[in-house]
Amino acid sequence: MLKRFFLLTIILLGISGFSQKKLSLIYTGNMGVYISNEQSSVLIDGLHTEYGEDYLFPTSQLVATIHTTLQPDAILFTHYHGDHFSASLSNKYLDSNKKAVLFGSDQITKEIKNSKDRLFTITTTDYSKQTFQVKDLKITGLKINHAGKRHVSVKNVGYIIDFGSKKILHVGDTNWMEKISLFDQLDLVKETIDIAILPYWMLLEDNATVLIKKHINPKRIIATHISPRIKKQELQDMKKKYPDIHFLTTLEEQIQL
Ligand SMILES: [Zn+2]
Repeated sequence: MLKRFFLLTIILLGISGFSQKKLSLIYTGNMGVYISNEQSSVLIDGLHTEYGEDYLFPTSQLVATIHTTLQPDAILFTHYHGDHFSASLSNKYLDSNKKAVLFGSDQITKEIKNSKDRLFTITTTDYSKQTFQVKDLKITGLKINHAGKRHVSVKNVGYIIDFGSKKILHVGDTNWMEKISLFDQLDLVKETIDIAILPYWMLLEDNATVLIKKHINPKRIIATHISPRIKKQELQDMKKKYPDIHFLTTLEEQIQL
């Protein structure tokens, strides 16, 4: 009897193991990532066009794949800069994928002509976390200031996507901004983030490891916004300094999360 019980337990564990949905990420250029759990998917900062030699962007072929094959349920944008967002590509995507929704600040959503009922506007008057359910995902948007004095008027929104099995944070174009104690105000540690997607310059700070642990404490880090013109040596040095961090540099590269 006991033997049978153990056998049954092993079989059930096996089945539940197999049925657990796989979480994977496809890189779409600059800070663009497509993340899917085989049932639901999001594309963050994934629709934009050529902006300059320092920014990878999705080729027209990749944009077509996004439209017809990947078909993210939600397209999310951190801010309107041309290396993160294209109004025309976003309008086209929503027009051809009638169930898809879009997230962004009002500087993004005002650019969308049709599909007004499928827009989620994240307010950036304070740092409050705004959560919405999309299929089996909980998507939270919150203000995270854009880095750089030139860009104070740019509304940058970070996202926490709760896939059930894992929580993923994407911060957009920010930095530690210790002068305004930005990350103290964001209070992200209590969100129990599994994977943090950061612009690589946040790793250049001398005490980056300490800051990451103190303010985000993720299990894993993925670095983005890496120029295709970065010096090989600089990239190698960063990889050596951070052997556990994944540096996204190749369009359409895929990683299991
Ligand atoms: Zn920007």
